[in-house]
Amino acid sequence: MPNASVPTITLRNGLELPAIGMGTWPMDNTQTADAVATAVEVGYRLFDTAENYGNEAGVGEGLRRSGIARGDVVLTTKFNKQWHGRKGVREAFTVSAEKLGTEYIDLLLVHWPNPDQDRFVEAVQGIADLLAEGLVRGIGVSNFKPAHLERLADAGLVPDLNQIQVDPRHIRTASRQAGARLGVVTESWSPLGRGEALLQDPTVTGLAEKYGRSPGQIVLRWHVQQGLVPIPKASSRAHLEENLAVFDFALEDAEITKLSALDTGEAGILDSDSFGH
Ligand code: NAP
Repeated sequence: MPNASVPTITLRNGLELPAIGMGTWPMDNTQTADAVATAVEVGYRLFDTAENYGNEAGVGEGLRRSGIARGDVVLTTKFNKQWHGRKGVREAFTVSAEKLGTEYIDLLLVHWPNPDQDRFVEAVQGIADLLAEGLVRGIGVSNFKPAHLERLADAGLVPDLNQIQVDPRHIRTASRQAGARLGVVTESWSPLGRGEALLQDPTVTGLAEKYGRSPGQIVLRWHVQQGLVPIPKASSRAHLEENLAVFDFALEDAEITKLSALDTGEAGILDSDSFGH
């Protein structure tokens, strides 16, 4: 059963995704297990991990410790470039599912497109194979630019979700619009800008004062009000609780626009045409 206080977004394949989730990088297995168990208590139902984070076992342990039913949470993990291919994705799935302690993964994501390797279409085909067998519930990609999404669309393999770096200083209009045109939901990684300068920006702190909210809540509200699904990472109960409590107030349209004007362009973004693992 989803948490009644967190709304959901319906992906193009019908999967109900909580409108906000919990990120787990860069926590190790022990920290992750503690934080995930706390997050379930606080009300999180969407969890993000990756082969590359080395903490999938911690997510599994935290969920077991919490006692929540498997069907009540949405699990997202991602695989590295060595698995790009139909057979490789199956192997990656098996290893991740075992670490997570689950028989199925809700959303399995291609972590980075690695276009130099030019095998991301086959990687998505591999996820589609698993979807057809009921081993995954949705097709995900991450760090895909418009050209990468269009390649997939040309191959008849439109994903359900694209997880990319988005925050008010990196608003990623082109990637979000390319996703929206295809019906792909955008999930925001580093949604708080890693909790650094963004949360001290006067535009953010001014709105925090106006609404009696924290700067983090203002930024997360900017995401959810635009249909972006943020996955803030938080290790303390206080931050976990704060980050989920963004569904009982609304920013004005002009305030969303003012926050979006903090955009510094694509220069601060890791370029997925040249970076990836
Ligand atoms: P983030 O969520 O923007 O920021 C995390 C930082 O903000 C942590 O230091 C956290 O500290 C702090 N924080 C959390 N809530 C706060 C609050 N309410 N007020 C002030 N500070 C707060 O950045 P991120 O961890 O880089 O990104 C989130 C998740 O995205 C990752 O954990 C990972 O799951 C995913 N990700 C994906 C990719 C990809 O390539 N797909 C890349 C990077 C990240 P505490 O821990 O002390 O609470």
